[in-house]
Amino acid sequence: MSKTLLRQIKSIDYLLELPLSQSLSQKSSREFVRECLRDLLDNLRQRILASQLPENTELDALIESELPIYWQKNLYSNLQPIINATGTLLHTNLGRAPLAPQALEAINKVAKGYSNLEYNLAKGARGSRDEHSEELLKVLLGCEAAVIVNNNAAAVMLVLDELAQDGEAIISRGELIEIGGAFRIPDVMKKSGATLREVGTTNRTRLSDYESAINENTKIILRVHPSNYRIIGFTEKPSLIDLVKLAKKYNLILVEDLGSGCLVDLRDCGIKDEPTAQASILAGVDVVTFSGDKMLGGPQAGIIAGKKAYLARIRRNPLMRALRVDKLSYAALSETLKLYRIGKAWQQIPILRALQATEKDLLLRSQNFLRRLKRRLPKDHSLKLSMRGGSSVIGGGSAPETPLPTTLIVIENSKMSANEMEIRLRKNILPIIARIEENNLIIDLRSVLDDDEEPLLKAIMALALVTFPSV
Ligand SMILES: *Cc1c(COP(=O)(O)O)cnc(C)c1O
Repeated sequence: MSKTLLRQIKSIDYLLELPLSQSLSQKSSREFVRECLRDLLDNLRQRILASQLPENTELDALIESELPIYWQKNLYSNLQPIINATGTLLHTNLGRAPLAPQALEAINKVAKGYSNLEYNLAKGARGSRDEHSEELLKVLLGCEAAVIVNNNAAAVMLVLDELAQDGEAIISRGELIEIGGAFRIPDVMKKSGATLREVGTTNRTRLSDYESAINENTKIILRVHPSNYRIIGFTEKPSLIDLVKLAKKYNLILVEDLGSGCLVDLRDCGIKDEPTAQASILAGVDVVTFSGDKMLGGPQAGIIAGKKAYLARIRRNPLMRALRVDKLSYAALSETLKLYRIGKAWQQIPILRALQATEKDLLLRSQNFLRRLKRRLPKDHSLKLSMRGGSSVIGGGSAPETPLPTTLIVIENSKMSANEMEIRLRKNILPIIARIEENNLIIDLRSVLDDDEEPLLKAIMALALVTFPSV
C-alpha cells in the first residue's frame, strides 16, 4: 500500500543535488530551495496517505514537475500575473484594464529615481501633485479643471462630501445602484453627510419629480450611470440637457457619476450606451467622476472633472490628502491620456485594441493558435480541439447589454474532465483563468495578450501529457 510510495521519497539533501534544484538555487539560494522541497514533500506525503497517488507514480518526475511551482509559489505570496482567457475584458477580479506599453515605461522611469511629483520646475519651488494630469484632461474633456484620486468610489465620496455636505442630494430611484464589491450609492451618500432625496420610481423618473423635490436644503442633483445593469421596457428619465437646465434654474450643482469614463466613441464596436465624459462636460454638467481603469484603459484612479470653482473646493477638502494617488498612478494615467491626445489610443491601449477585434479576427487568431498547438502535440495526444462562435463580455460594470461576438476554442480531453483541466490551468506557474461551459473547457483569446499566447499554448500542451493528479 502507500508505505511503498512513502519509502521511495528521497531525502532533501539528495534532491537538492538534482540539476533542477541546483539551477533554482542559483536563481535564489540553497536555503530557499530547501524550504520549497520541504513544503513539496509534506504535501506529497499527505497525498500519498490520502491515497491520491497511484502506486506506480514516478515520484522523481513528479517532484521535478512540481518543484518550480513551489519555488514560484513561495516567492509570490499574493499578487501575481495571470493569463485572462475568460473573454471578460475588464474583469474586476483579474485587475481590470491592462496598461499600454507607454504607461508601463512611464511607471518604470518615474519609479526608478526621483521626479517632480510636488516640485515646480519652472519656479524651482514647491509645486502641487494634483496638477499632473490636469492639462491633458482639460484638453481631452473640454473641462475647466480636474483632479485625480484613488478610484472612482473615492471620487464620488469626495465630491459628495464637499458639495452636498449637510444638505440634500436628489437622485432618481432608478439610479440607486450597487456597483459590486458592496459599493452602494446610498451608503456612500450617508457616509458623506449628505441627505439622500430619492425621486421617481425604479423604471420612470420625470423632470417634474426632480423639480418638486427641490427645497432650500437641496445642494446637488446627482445623476449616476447605471453601469452594470439596465432598466428596459417601460422606462423614462430626463435628458442630461434637461437636468442641466433644471440645475441652472435653481442654482444647484449637477454632478454625474459616469462610472466607466469612456473618452472615445464606442459605437463602431457595437457599444451604444457608454456615454463619453466629454459629452457630459459639453452638455453642461458641473462635475463628472469616472474610473481610470475601466474603459479608459489606464491605472486604478478616480477622475473628477468640471467647473473650476467646484474643483477648487474639492482640492481643499481635507479628504483629498487621504484619497490622493502616488507618483506611479500619475505616470501611468498621464501617459495613457497622452495616447488619446496624440490619436494613438485605438492602436496602443490594450482594452481598446481588444474591443475592436471582430469575430473574424478572432477566428483567424484562434485558427492560427490551434495550428501551432497541433504542430507541437504528439500524434496520439488526448485532446479534442475545436472552435465555435460565442461572445466576450466587457465587464467591469460597463455596457452589460453588449455581448461582443467572438470565436471560442473548445478543449476536451479523454484523460481528464473539464474541471480537472480548469484546476490545472489555474495552478499553472503562470496561472490561466478559463471558462467552463457544458462540461467543456473554453478559451477566448480576445482577453489574452499577444505575449501570453506562448505560455498558454505550453500549458494546454501539458494537459495532454500529464500523468499525475494536480497539486
Ligand atoms: C465602477 C463604478 C464606480 C466605482 O468605481 P471604482 O473605480 O471601482 O472605485 C462608481 N460608480 C459607478 C457608476 C461605477 O460604474
